[in-house]
Amino acid sequence: MRYEGVIYRPPSEAYSLLIQATIGCPHNKCTFCAMYKNTRFRIRKVEDIKEDLLAARQYYGEYIESLFFPDGNTIYMKTAQLAEIIAYARSLFPHLQRITVYGSARFVNLKKPEELLQLRQAGLSRIHMGMESGDDIVLERVRKGTTPAEIIEAGKKLKDAGIEVSEYYLVGIGGKDRTVEHAVNSARVLSAISPDFIRIRTFGPDRNTPIEQDIASGAFQMLTPHEALKEIRLLIENLDCGGSNILSDHISNYSNINGRLPEDKRLMLKQIDRSLNIDETRFRPPRSSVI
Ligand code: SF4
Repeated sequence: MRYEGVIYRPPSEAYSLLIQATIGCPHNKCTFCAMYKNTRFRIRKVEDIKEDLLAARQYYGEYIESLFFPDGNTIYMKTAQLAEIIAYARSLFPHLQRITVYGSARFVNLKKPEELLQLRQAGLSRIHMGMESGDDIVLERVRKGTTPAEIIEAGKKLKDAGIEVSEYYLVGIGGKDRTVEHAVNSARVLSAISPDFIRIRTFGPDRNTPIEQDIASGAFQMLTPHEALKEIRLLIENLDCGGSNILSDHISNYSNINGRLPEDKRLMLKQIDRSLNIDETRFRPPRSSVI
């Protein structure tokens, strides 16, 4: 198994086999993201990916239950090639229960519905989607390269194809001036999709990112811990999802808010209110929301 650069994966893939299918990110412009800044994007050869899968089979044996194909936006691969490596992985690891990739809305939307169905039938089970925000101004400011309408379109297309949708919401990425719009408009977008998972991360700046300079100049104002919690409260209050799991599965968060919508909404709001009773000085400083 060969790896190039730093390998990132969502915390929920901590126990997954990681086989690099792409190197870097084809977008690579988000102002808060330092993950692949010095990496030129490329798709690995299918033969090389298959060689690595075979090496993993020889090393670990057949009992692999989940597989994640880094790097950023592996959904960008040609459908036939992605389907081929997924099917090959399933032939090597008969106990696989989950195969996942990263995929932003703009890259998911490059796929026709029948291509997503083909990927589902090959064995793709879930896409990790960094929507970050459902507010058009915030998305534009952070150069996400997508719009709220495209995020909804991508989420619905995936659900129609039977692929699970795992959306990432970045608390505080709207700064102080856009926190209300960021929460309310994100809730609107998420409610239109009802993703299987809504994963909360709280924004903390990474070094050598454009947003770090905006913070230094005062152009971007970070939320305090209480402001971040109030933003999550507003988001959850406005969510109208059926069957979505909210998870705070990241160290960047100030409180561990988890629950299922709609049934756990009240409980989650209560938990946030309890956290808001803790003096702000007792929260630790912001942590990177990526690493
Ligand atoms: S946040 Fe995702 S889409 Fe944006 S540059 Fe980083 S890896 Fe690429």
